[in-house]
Amino acid sequence: MKALTFIRPGHFEMTEKPKPEIVEPKDAIVRITASSICSSDLHIIHGSVPQAEPGVTLGHEMVGVVESVGPGVKKLKPGDRVAVNVETFCGECFFCRNGWVNNCTDRHGGWALGCRIDGGQTEFVRVPYADNGLSLIPDSVSDDQALFVGDILVTGYWAVDISEVSENDTVLIIGAGPTGLCTLECLKLKHPRNIIVCEKQAGRRRFVERHYPGVTVVSPDDCLAAVMRLGENGGADRVIEVAGTDESFRMAWQAARPNAIVTIVALYDRPQVLPLPDMYGKNLIFKTGGVDGRDCDVLLELIAAGKIDTTPFITHRFPLSRINDAYTLFGQQQDGVIKTMITPD
Ligand SMILES: [Zn+2]
Ligand SMILES: [Zn+2]
Repeated sequence: MKALTFIRPGHFEMTEKPKPEIVEPKDAIVRITASSICSSDLHIIHGSVPQAEPGVTLGHEMVGVVESVGPGVKKLKPGDRVAVNVETFCGECFFCRNGWVNNCTDRHGGWALGCRIDGGQTEFVRVPYADNGLSLIPDSVSDDQALFVGDILVTGYWAVDISEVSENDTVLIIGAGPTGLCTLECLKLKHPRNIIVCEKQAGRRRFVERHYPGVTVVSPDDCLAAVMRLGENGGADRVIEVAGTDESFRMAWQAARPNAIVTIVALYDRPQVLPLPDMYGKNLIFKTGGVDGRDCDVLLELIAAGKIDTTPFITHRFPLSRINDAYTLFGQQQDGVIKTMITPD
């Protein structure tokens, strides 16, 4: 089968690989019906993910159909349509029992697919702990609707969840890339008093304005003024930082009112500094990523109920044989791309 393979930093190519087989009793093999490209894939290619294994098949955002299951799989059977979770987790260790599946202590625990073990930019993928890592897609939900459930949508849901948002809050999301948009989609469900989205790219600001009337959209230059105007107590009650730059990190704590919760979802290329003398007296609560991807089933129910819709984020479609073109488009942020959808040839 065709598999988009990470060769070494700076180099990836389509290779031929054998179809995966069941290795462990709790494995399932999934035939990929759609996948996508994430900025984390670009980070691997650029060499900034040290745990990425040379030779691994890229891709950790995908949906498909169960092809076969090991004898230890209870929830699924061949033919089931499933969303694949970016995270692998055993469900039994200390961290899993607390819902902190990102820190599962299994050797494959956490982000393994498309990083340490073969991922989904291919035709078939082996998913360990399939009962945990696969979620049944309801019949009424399409692949388009379910494509982002296992990675960026579950990340947005988790970010809103740990931010403890209430209806009285003014919430600032920094960054309206794909994960920021998924965060916004989940934040709407909490009906906070004010939502402010700060985004530096004009095209992305226009997208939010068009799809989310009622949300205040600002550029970084106008962000602090907007949170001071709308936040009643000297800033945002909740800040969710999804952009991942030095400036956006600084903005996150500057825009927060005293005693606010600041949730850091973003990945940074380098360490960030908390200037504690400047922050003294703000008494902020920081919460930091990565995602505990435990709520995929909930998200699929919300999608089936019409409460979440991420299909407008699919701006471009490619067959697997043209995935290099999709990488170029996505990597260079051409043509207003938000997300690509890759389907079998
Ligand atoms: Zn991702
Ligand atoms: Zn575990």
